Amino acid sequence: MRVSRLMLVTLRDDPAEAEIPSHRLLLRAGYIRRVASGVYAYLPLLWRVLQKVSRIVREEMDGAGALETLLPQLQPAELWQRSGRWSGYTAGEGIMFHLSDRQGRELGLGPTHEEVITALAADLLRSYRQLPVNLYQIQSKFRDEIRPRFGLMRGREFIMKDAYSFHADEASLKETYAAMDQAYRRIFSRCGLRAVAVDADSGAIGGSASQEFMVTAEAGEDLILTSADGRYAANQERAVSLPNEPIALPGGARCGGAGEVVATPGQSSIEDLAAAHGFAPSQLVKVLLLLARFEDGLRQPVLVSLRGDQTLNDVKLANAVTARLGAEHGALLGIDPLNAEQIRQERLDLDLSTLPLGFLGPDLDDRLLGAESRRTDATSPDLRRSAGPGQAGVATATLKRSFLRLVDPTAADLDAFICGGNGVDQHRVGVTWAGLGPTAAADQVLDLRSAQPGDRCLHDPGQRLEASRGIEVGHIFQLGRKYSQALEARFTNESGVDEALWMGCYGIGVSRLAQAAVEQHHDGNGICWPVSIAPFELIVVIANAQDSEQVTLAEQLYSMLQAAGIDVLLDDRSERAGVKFKDADLIGIPWRLVVGRGAATGEVELVERASRDTRVLAASDVLTTVQPLLAAGRLGLTN
Ligand code: ATP
Ligand code: MG
Repeated sequence: MRVSRLMLVTLRDDPAEAEIPSHRLLLRAGYIRRVASGVYAYLPLLWRVLQKVSRIVREEMDGAGALETLLPQLQPAELWQRSGRWSGYTAGEGIMFHLSDRQGRELGLGPTHEEVITALAADLLRSYRQLPVNLYQIQSKFRDEIRPRFGLMRGREFIMKDAYSFHADEASLKETYAAMDQAYRRIFSRCGLRAVAVDADSGAIGGSASQEFMVTAEAGEDLILTSADGRYAANQERAVSLPNEPIALPGGARCGGAGEVVATPGQSSIEDLAAAHGFAPSQLVKVLLLLARFEDGLRQPVLVSLRGDQTLNDVKLANAVTARLGAEHGALLGIDPLNAEQIRQERLDLDLSTLPLGFLGPDLDDRLLGAESRRTDATSPDLRRSAGPGQAGVATATLKRSFLRLVDPTAADLDAFICGGNGVDQHRVGVTWAGLGPTAAADQVLDLRSAQPGDRCLHDPGQRLEASRGIEVGHIFQLGRKYSQALEARFTNESGVDEALWMGCYGIGVSRLAQAAVEQHHDGNGICWPVSIAPFELIVVIANAQDSEQVTLAEQLYSMLQAAGIDVLLDDRSERAGVKFKDADLIGIPWRLVVGRGAATGEVELVERASRDTRVLAASDVLTTVQPLLAAGRLGLTN
């Protein structure tokens, strides 16, 4: 390919819309253009990168025995209603684009394909003899992300490889899961990426194993916690650790564990309390009040008690609340600190001023939520659904008049502590759980805290967690039988008994991966593509396009390299040499061959983009020199 034919438009200045280096560079070097928020045109250079990534993905998927397929992006609502995900994906913060056709039938644009593939499996898979089977596809996915950002990192239309496997039993699922794990490691390494596998959140499905692959980079949205011995790595969403020992409360329990009331005017934060009274945060139990919103209209107030020096983990909380109430009340639409705006919007019959926010104790009385009154229509069920078929989320919000009380072990394990006095400007010192009485009794004590860097590890308390940032490029998941049960995908096992299929699913963000590679491989002058996914492996630059000797030699080398199967680009433009070098650096072609003044004596210069190593060669030695260099690069990372 000739640069003059490439429609190459590079930008000298950083585009204002881009916040991270990889986004800036892809825009500046002419790889992408924004069409709408989170929607990008993949220009020819990027398309070549995506094709190369896809080729590596295909080779590894095929090698692991998966079959390529292509499923529709338009998906009927009915399938998602059967799996129970339609409302969660379309109402509230749901991310599925959805529409109705001319007959008024509702459809969604595929954000993922569990429903479609499971319905197909229900139709096609009948016997254990057909199992296991693993199907994959590479296609555009659609997600109406709440915060599309960083270019291809979080797009609303993006390219994903997704695979789904079906099995007769859990052991077979685990086998394929392990094979996918290995294939993923090879894919990322072949793409020249340093990636780590971490324990990941599996959502509220429970029990199922799931692992994310993170490309380590400062700009990553995810926080990864790892132990130096390499035995533990997890996404912070999921990570567990040993909390630090709390500082014992001097004097222990007071007033029989009911605590002594102290005035704490205006001191509603841990910092204020600590500053005013010298309390250590670990001597406090903080009580957070949140409201969980469920698909069927249930609005459940949640009281979370956590030791004062700990941070609530939103993902763990959402999982806990879903596990308790999801089966009965449908999808969890969201869980947020209870606030006036929400009460107004949802017309909840609740007077927030009766709740001493900032001074709450774990024994906050349910009666503060008001009585289960006001309902005039005695026959109407508690939670009414006014939604017609396919209409999501139009359920009447109904406030539950009692708290769901969840307690983190860091709080439950304290012998004597300080907590809110359930009255404005009051706290209690020297409280015990027994002293608080039955009102404070937890519905559940479970891990709700965020593990932090510096925490001791569970597997070895001598190890401490270290933090790094990562970009999630892949996620593999043992789904179990959730979807096969919901969509009745069943098979006959070896004993002739009918049972639900076991499933796994495996995603790679192909377009995100391409940008993640730039995030990991760039310098002040531009991109430094790994050879294996570079749009072109080598660029021949004619220093002076007016010099016929240079042009002739460059053309010869270009044809020869092309004939040798090398992805070669020829910069034949009549720009100044400096401009061409700058562009070559910016677009990040791994090797540059400069045909300049030396052309007269048959000499050229070979420059490695990333290291800037330069060597002068006889033109006749070019092929034998570059071939082994490129061959090594095509393999990806060697370590
Ligand atoms: P995230 O946590 O980043 O929102 P996810 O967990 O929702 O991602 P999956 O459903 O596991 O993502 O999708 C598989 C892969 O697709 C992810 O590992 C990621 O690489 C990629 N991906 C997901 N959402 C996007 C997006 N909005 N833009 C680009 N790639 C994405
Ligand atoms: Mg994920």
